Amino acid sequence: MTFAVIGAGLAGLTCAAGLSEADHDVALFDKGRGAGGRMASRQMRTAQGEAGFDHGAQYMTAHDPAFRAQLEGWAAQGLAARWPAAGEEAWVGVPSMNAPLRHLADALGVRWSARVEAAVPGPDGWRLLGDDIGEDRFDGVVVAVPAEQAATLLAPLAPDLARRAADTPSLPCWTLMAAFAERLPIPGDVLKRRGAIDWASRNSAKPGRVGLEAWVLHATPDWSRAHLEDEPDTVQAALLAMLAAEAGGAPVQTLSASVHRWRYARSGGSGDGMLWDPSRRIGVCGDWLLGPRVESAFLSGRRLAAAICA
Ligand SMILES: Cc1cc2nc3c(=O)[nH]c(=O)nc-3n(C[C@H](O)[C@H](O)[C@H](O)COP(=O)(O)OP(=O)(O)OC[C@H]3O[C@@H](n4cnc5c(N)ncnc54)[C@H](O)[C@@H]3O)c2cc1C
Repeated sequence: MTFAVIGAGLAGLTCAAGLSEADHDVALFDKGRGAGGRMASRQMRTAQGEAGFDHGAQYMTAHDPAFRAQLEGWAAQGLAARWPAAGEEAWVGVPSMNAPLRHLADALGVRWSARVEAAVPGPDGWRLLGDDIGEDRFDGVVVAVPAEQAATLLAPLAPDLARRAADTPSLPCWTLMAAFAERLPIPGDVLKRRGAIDWASRNSAKPGRVGLEAWVLHATPDWSRAHLEDEPDTVQAALLAMLAAEAGGAPVQTLSASVHRWRYARSGGSGDGMLWDPSRRIGVCGDWLLGPRVESAFLSGRRLAAAICA
C-alpha cells in the first residue's frame, strides 16, 4: 500500500521506517526546512566562529528495551552518545541532537517545506492539500504532528480522533540560544529548575560538539505561558539576564543570541500509544499519545507501524 506520513519528527520517521521495512511505499511531508522537529538543532555564525545549539529536546533516556536498542544502534553508527552531565542514562545525538533524524530522513526521503493543510479522502484514495504538495493519491494517511496540530488536521476527517488530540494539550517553552566569547563561570554544565529557568546547559560541552561556548536555556512552562506573546527581543533580554545571574554577573561578552518560541513543547499523554482506524486507513502517532519524551515519539511511531502492518 502507499502511505502519506504528515510530520517527519521522530514519530513520523519511525512509523515510516516500519512501513517501509514491510514493503509499503511511504511519502513523508514536513513543513520544516530540515530534520529535527522538536529535536531541532541550529548553527549560529558569529564574528569569532560558529556555535551549535540543540534548542528542542536536550537529551534522551530509554525505559523500553526497543528504544535502548535503537540508542545503542545509533551509537554504533556514531549518531548518538551518552552525556553523563545530564544523568547516567542520558543520551544525545552526535554531533547534534537532530543527527539520528537526519540519518533516517535521508534514507526515507522527506519533502521539506511541505505544509499539509488538509487530507481529503476520495474514491481513488487520500489526497493531500497544500502548496507544492502534489497530486499523488495514497491508500492510507498517518498524522504525526503535535496534538494541537493533529486536532486541526483530524477535525474534518475523524472528529473522534481529533477530540483525543484536543483533550491532550501541550505546554509552551521559550528557549534562549547564546554564544559567548569565553567560558561562562558556571560550575558544571547543567542547571535544573532554578526560578524561571527550567533547564540550562552548556551545549558546547555535549559529546562531539565543536565551536564556541554555547548555552541553551529553557524557561519554565509558567514563565513561558506568562510571556508567550511578548516580543522576542524582550524575552531574549530577560533570559540572558537569568543566565548572567547564574554566572554571577561575570563580564563575559555575548557574541550572538536568539530565542525560539515552542508553542507546543511538552505534550500531555493521552495513554492511547497510537491511533489506527483500519476502515478509514487513518493512523495517528506522536509523543502526545504516550508522554512528553523522545522515547514516546519513537514507541508511538513503532506501534502504529506494527498496527498497520498487522
Ligand atoms: C524545548 C523542548 C525540550 C525538550 N526536552 C526534552 C528532553 O530533554 N528529553 C526528552 O525526551 N524530550 C524532550 N522534549 C520532547 C521531545 O522533543 C518530543 O517528545 C519529541 O521530539 C516529539 O517527536 P514527535 O515526532 O512526536 O513530534 P515533532 O518532533 O514535533 O515532529 C512533528 C513534525 O511535524 C511537522 N508538522 C507539523 N504540522 C505539519 C503540517 N501541517 N504539515 C507538515 N508537517 C507538519 C513539524 O514540522 C515536525 O517536524 C523536549 C521538547 C522541547 C520542545
